[in-house]
Amino acid sequence: MPTRLSPHFTVEELTATQHRRLDNTPSPAVLENLRRTAERMEQVRSLLGDRVITVSSGYRSPAVNRAVGGAKTSAHLSGLAVDFNCHAFGSPAEVCEAIARSSITFDQLIEEGRWVHLSADPRGRRQVLTKRKNGGYRAGLGRDPPTPGL
Ligand SMILES: [Zn+2]
Repeated sequence: MPTRLSPHFTVEELTATQHRRLDNTPSPAVLENLRRTAERMEQVRSLLGDRVITVSSGYRSPAVNRAVGGAKTSAHLSGLAVDFNCHAFGSPAEVCEAIARSSITFDQLIEEGRWVHLSADPRGRRQVLTKRKNGGYRAGLGRDPPTPGL
């Protein structure tokens, strides 16, 4: 039986990884954070009309984070971040727009191109970023402005 963190999210779902040989078992402290993240994702889910959320990455142990090339300070390492899509609602850009306009508390919301990254870190800075096509991140949402001269 899957272990429920909240009505719609389970430990298994938020600790799943393609790197099955690597240990990705959450510590009790990480589990507490995952519960917090799941509660935040319940808010996101209802904002998006109670549609199915597809999680691609939640908690990452240091080994898994290294394997996927995650940032050394990634909130995924503490179980406070989730990468997801809500295909029935819209594109990652549309999902980000909806969350940014809502009153949901988050630390970072990133439009990663093919998915949405949301951090439930208690700092709650509400930082909104978009991944640039050519690498790096910029503040805010929306498409990159056209490159001058092209
Ligand atoms: Zn992420």
